[in-house]
Amino acid sequence: MISNRLPQHLLVIDDSELQRQFMVELCGDMGIDNVLQAVDGFDAVAQLKTNPLIEAVILDLEMPGMDGVEVLHELVRLGLDPAVIVASARESVLLNVVESMGKSLGLRLLGVLQKPVLYEQLASSLSRFSVAQLRAEHSEAQAPGPQLNEQDIERALREREFVAYFQPKVGLREGQLKGVEALIRWQHPQHGLLAPVHFIELVERSRYISEVTLQMLDMSLQYCRRWHDAGLPLSFSINVSARSLADSKLADKIIERVAASGIAPHHVILEITESAIMVDLGTTLGTLARLRLKGFGLSVDDYGTGFSCMLQLSRVPCSELKVDRAFVNGASQSLHLRILLESALDIARKLSLRVVAEGVETREDWMLLRSLGCGEAQGYFVAKPMPGDALLPWWRANRDRVQMLGALAE
Ligand code: C2E
Ligand code: CA
Ligand code: CA
Repeated sequence: MISNRLPQHLLVIDDSELQRQFMVELCGDMGIDNVLQAVDGFDAVAQLKTNPLIEAVILDLEMPGMDGVEVLHELVRLGLDPAVIVASARESVLLNVVESMGKSLGLRLLGVLQKPVLYEQLASSLSRFSVAQLRAEHSEAQAPGPQLNEQDIERALREREFVAYFQPKVGLREGQLKGVEALIRWQHPQHGLLAPVHFIELVERSRYISEVTLQMLDMSLQYCRRWHDAGLPLSFSINVSARSLADSKLADKIIERVAASGIAPHHVILEITESAIMVDLGTTLGTLARLRLKGFGLSVDDYGTGFSCMLQLSRVPCSELKVDRAFVNGASQSLHLRILLESALDIARKLSLRVVAEGVETREDWMLLRSLGCGEAQGYFVAKPMPGDALLPWWRANRDRVQMLGALAE
C-alpha cells in the first residue's frame, strides 16, 4: 500500500489575496504548514525556479499578465515538475480542456477543481500526491530505454529471462481476491528488470510473440496450481495480442497446456489487446469462439480505446470487459469521465459481462466504482504488480485491509 504523504511545501498561485488566504487556511487545516504564495504567473515561475523545495502548486487560471495556462506551458518548458492542482471559477467544459491539456503535456495533475473549492475536494486531490510522486520516480527510472532486437528476444526465451508479475483483481463489494493479471517483465542480464513499455511492441511484431505468450501461460499455470493448493481458488488473466490469434495453432497449444496442467479453463482469462486487431478476421474470430466454447474467459482489454470499441463487443464472444484506466483514474474528480464510465458499466450490464476497472489509484475512485456497481477493481490502490512468490504473503498481510475496503459505507 502506498503511504499517503502530503506535499511538504506548497505554492498557492492566485491574483486575489482573498482566494490565496482561503487556500492557505484550507492547506493549514490539512496539516500542510509551509504554504507559500505567488501573486501572479511571473511571481510563481520565479519562485519555482529558485525554490526546489516546492513540491506542489495550486493554480488559478484567470490572472492578469501570465494566465494559468501559460504558467503550465512555462513549467514544461523549464522542465519544472511540481504536482499541480488547478482551481478556477470558470465553467466545467473549460476546466476539462485544461485537464486534457495538462495530461497531454505530461504534467502531474492532481485535480482540476471548480471554485469555491471544498475541503473534501482539495483533500481528495492532495491524496493523489503520493501516487503521482511514485509514478514520476518510476518513469524517471525507466527512461531512456535500452536498444533491443529480435535476437535478444530469442535468447531471452531460451534463457528464460521473461518473468511473470501478478497484479491482484479484487471484488469491490466483498473485498475478495478474485484473481490476478499476469504482466510480463524482462529480467535482462545487462539492463535489469524491464517493464513491457521497453520491449512489448518489439515482441508483438516479432515471430516470437506466440512463444512469449506460451511462456507467460506456463509460468501463470504453475503459480495458479500453488495458489489453489494453498486454498485460494484464483483465476488468472494473460494478455494475448489479437494479432497472434490469427495463428490458430496458438489456441491449440493454449488449450493443450491448460488441459495438461489440471487447472480448469474457467480459471484462465485471455485479455485480448491490440488496436490493429484482426489481420485475418475470420480465423481470429473462429479461434476466439473455440476458446470460449472450451470454457476460457475472454476479456476485452483497454475498453473505451482503440480497437476496444462498442462494435467489437458484438463480435468478440467475450465474458469480461476491462475498462481502460483512462476512464477510471480520476473519475471521481471529473464529471465527463464519470459519464463515460457509467455508460461502459451500463453496456456491460446489458450484455451480462463482468467488469473490471483498471488503474484504480485512490479511495475516491474506488468508492465511485463501488457505488456505480462495478464488479472488480485492479490498481495501485489495492496493489502494484508483484512476483508470483509475493502474492500469498501479500494477501496474508493485506486481507483485512482489502476486506474492509469491501465493507466501506457509501
Ligand atoms: P495492460 O494490459 O493495460 O496492463 C495494465 C498496466 O497498467 C500494467 O502495466 C500495470 O502495471 C499498470 N497499472 C496497474 N495498476 C495501475 C494504476 O493504478 N495506475 C497506473 N498508472 N498503472 C497501473 P505494465 O505491466 O507496464 O504493462 C503494460 C502493458 O503491456 C499492458 O497493459 C499490456 O498491454 C502489455 N503487456 C503486459 N504483459 C504482457 C504480455 O504478457 N503479453 C502481451 N502481449 N502484452 C503484455
Ligand atoms: Ca491487460
Ligand atoms: Ca488495459
